[in-house]
Amino acid sequence: MPAVTNHMPTAELQALDAAHHIHPFSTQSNFEKEGARVIKRGEGVWLFDSEGEKILDAMAGLWCVNVGYGREELVEVATRQMRELPFYNTFFKTTHVPAIALATKLAELAPGNLNHVFFASGGSDANDTNIRVVRHYWNMKGKPEKTIIISRKNGYHGSTMGSASLGGMSGMHAQGGLPIPDIHHINQPDWWAEGGQLTPEEFGLARARELEQAIDELGENRVAAFIAEPIQGAGGVIIPPSTYWPEIKRICAEREILLIADEVICGFGRTGNWFGNQTVGVQPDIMTIAKGMSSGYQPIGGSILSDEIANTLGKDEFNHGYTYSGHPVASAVALENLRIIEEEKLIDHVRDTAGPYMRKKWEELTDHPLVGEAKIVGLMGSIALTPDKSSRAAFAAGAGTAGLICRERCFANNLVMRHVGDRMIISPPLVIQPDEIDVLAERAHRALDETYKRLKEEGLMVAAH
Ligand SMILES: *Cc1c(COP(=O)(O)O)cnc(C)c1O
Repeated sequence: MPAVTNHMPTAELQALDAAHHIHPFSTQSNFEKEGARVIKRGEGVWLFDSEGEKILDAMAGLWCVNVGYGREELVEVATRQMRELPFYNTFFKTTHVPAIALATKLAELAPGNLNHVFFASGGSDANDTNIRVVRHYWNMKGKPEKTIIISRKNGYHGSTMGSASLGGMSGMHAQGGLPIPDIHHINQPDWWAEGGQLTPEEFGLARARELEQAIDELGENRVAAFIAEPIQGAGGVIIPPSTYWPEIKRICAEREILLIADEVICGFGRTGNWFGNQTVGVQPDIMTIAKGMSSGYQPIGGSILSDEIANTLGKDEFNHGYTYSGHPVASAVALENLRIIEEEKLIDHVRDTAGPYMRKKWEELTDHPLVGEAKIVGLMGSIALTPDKSSRAAFAAGAGTAGLICRERCFANNLVMRHVGDRMIISPPLVIQPDEIDVLAERAHRALDETYKRLKEEGLMVAAH
């Protein structure tokens, strides 16, 4: 076998990649026909590939590189911590300074009485922790029958058995025997696709009230919790109508159930506040955190629990933990990442500078014949592609036809923008500057023009009925 190095020709790297590396959420056999793009280096909002192309990463990796690429501070902290203590566990009555410091900092940042952190290696396992936490909590409160967790169709909570069951992705449920028992899904607040003749406000209320109906049908004595992303990310950056979260808040206040806010994307500045629940105005009992927590420089996630939940669980041994819970290097890097977000006032930057400018540029895309609506909160946004704006029509050729073409055209124009069905989504690093936003918008426009041309040529600008 040849030594695999940075200097290998792209085609050889791609061949070895296709032969030996199984990619997440991909059709592996396709890589034999067309290799994966080989990313070599990052700087700020920019990526550089093995062909020397400079690409604007409007997805911040996978919604996570909030402070941008190439941050020496994070490298130094990791190096120092690896030298001093590369690993020690936090089981069996031991602890270490990085885990203590990070938990303390998170308790300070998290709103209200969320003061206790259980660490995981990412968002999926943190949500698995949450399933066990809420069920065990009610058991300890003398209500062992409260085991059902309500979540939403087209929500995303991770890819393990538990977290993918919480999620409402039908494609995931179709493989491997999901969901696990006692998970109940209600509809999502996606007005564009599902709102019919209702106004967004009417539709937001109707979809929120599905939570109340589900609790009534299942029995309040059976429901443990409701889990939701403040704004759905992987589902297509679905920004709910303004009426949705206030109504959810009312229902949660009236019913004896716990609210879990999955902040894996919305947390750490993405929406212009530290956490998405602050943007939508609810106080959760548990928050799931990962991704932007370390800006992706180290794999780390966790669950932040309220005083009440932590104190109740604390009365007994909680038979749960991961080898890497509170990993010292990951914790040290996450802590430094939070320091950077604070010191560089990145949340103010999102709220007052980059967010408003991005919004202006983003909303201008609705002038394009292919774009039906453009939605954005802070620095997470989406546009809906449609063959007919007035009726909010889907494409006759099926969901994702236009989206996939558009993603390819973005790729060809050195812009990373993802598609979910026929929604195009962005979530750029929070450090993005106005001149970089100009480049983003210009490339997005060009990609849309090229997509439109292709769709017309192939006779695909046809509405489904
Ligand atoms: C990415 C994501 C997860 C899963 O996190 P992993 O680190 O991939 O396990 C969970 N919830 C949300 C909202 C996410 O976006």
